[in-house]
Amino acid sequence: MTTDTVLDRFLRYVVIDTQSDASSPTQPSTEKQKNLGRLLVDELLAIGLTDAHLDEHGYVYATVPANTDKQVPVICFCSHMDTAPDFTGTNVKPQLLRNYAGGDIQLKGDPQQVIRVTDHPELKNQIGNDIVTTDGTTLLGADDKAGIAEIVTAAQFLIANPDIRHGTIKLLFTADEEIGRGVDKVDFKKLGAKFAYTMDGETAGHIEDETFSADGVEIAISGVAIHPGFAKGRMENAIKIAGAIVDRLPKELAPETTEGREGFVHPTALSGSMEKAALSLIVRDFTDEGLATKEKMLEDIVKDVMKAYPGSTYRFEVKQQYRNMKKVLDRHPEIVENALEAVRRAGMAPVRGSIRGGTDGSRLSFMGLPCPNIFAGGHAFHSPLEWVSRQDMERAVKTIVELARVWEERA
Ligand SMILES: [Zn+2]
Repeated sequence: MTTDTVLDRFLRYVVIDTQSDASSPTQPSTEKQKNLGRLLVDELLAIGLTDAHLDEHGYVYATVPANTDKQVPVICFCSHMDTAPDFTGTNVKPQLLRNYAGGDIQLKGDPQQVIRVTDHPELKNQIGNDIVTTDGTTLLGADDKAGIAEIVTAAQFLIANPDIRHGTIKLLFTADEEIGRGVDKVDFKKLGAKFAYTMDGETAGHIEDETFSADGVEIAISGVAIHPGFAKGRMENAIKIAGAIVDRLPKELAPETTEGREGFVHPTALSGSMEKAALSLIVRDFTDEGLATKEKMLEDIVKDVMKAYPGSTYRFEVKQQYRNMKKVLDRHPEIVENALEAVRRAGMAPVRGSIRGGTDGSRLSFMGLPCPNIFAGGHAFHSPLEWVSRQDMERAVKTIVELARVWEERA
């Protein structure tokens, strides 16, 4: 096992069902995530990481000890073990397509499922590579088991090559990232890291140091209920008030009409009766000011709609979800600079980008552990068309090894 490649490890991890479940109150949300956790602990112990363990929250911790006298900041590499609830992760049957010749990839378990070059232009950069797909009936779980396989393989490589000098390297594998609880129970004291990197991005060479800033808004409306037979001039139907608010949301500030660095206001749930209605929205922007502007606009819409309903009232509540990690990372530019250098040394031209979403890293950054996101190589996350190439996973392994080396050199 000590000579396992990143591909060997990846194929072993993806067949273990680790789907998380947002409706579960437990931590981890599904007990089966620990099956992968236990396997990882065994493997980490086998490669010589003697403190590897699975904690009661379903997280795996391990340490690659420093082999230098220099004072190098402790860095952590982090990936999540769970797969998304969006698509089944039971009975994953990974398919290995060696020496990809180009063209669309027909998945053999479902004639409807074809990975088309037109929809997945990244395939054009994969000619001659070995591509792992599903059989079309499940997701693959490259998100984020590619990241885990890469981190474990890099750790094994560092242990086997002591001539590569590095500081203390911490490994952290979390549960329940896909349901937004990935870092709820991280023990920062035990981890003892100064900076971290999630290996949870897509295309080879990409580093993400920016995410959305995100809030949730809950609007509760109380209308005036009365028997419809006596309602003239008196009834104020909360369902209609909520409908009027949704109707006035600007069409150009929606997920379906925005891209890049544009934010949006997006209704996610609506329930109601004549007497009361509840409307849930999410607000996204790359700046705090943009977020505040959108929330003010939203409340102005509500106030304006309510003018026509003098007997009704509303409650408007903003809940912070996560913040753009760039704010934190800009205070420590060496974190991203070192990662860019590692990508270069691993033979790629680095690409810096932003994510229209959040990561474990965006929350970790604001919990005191600055944490950009590095590519793991997977594509078409959360779907049966998910794929990853062996060569891109190997590039990620190299990037991790080089990153460990860069931190030591520059210490
Ligand atoms: Zn992920």
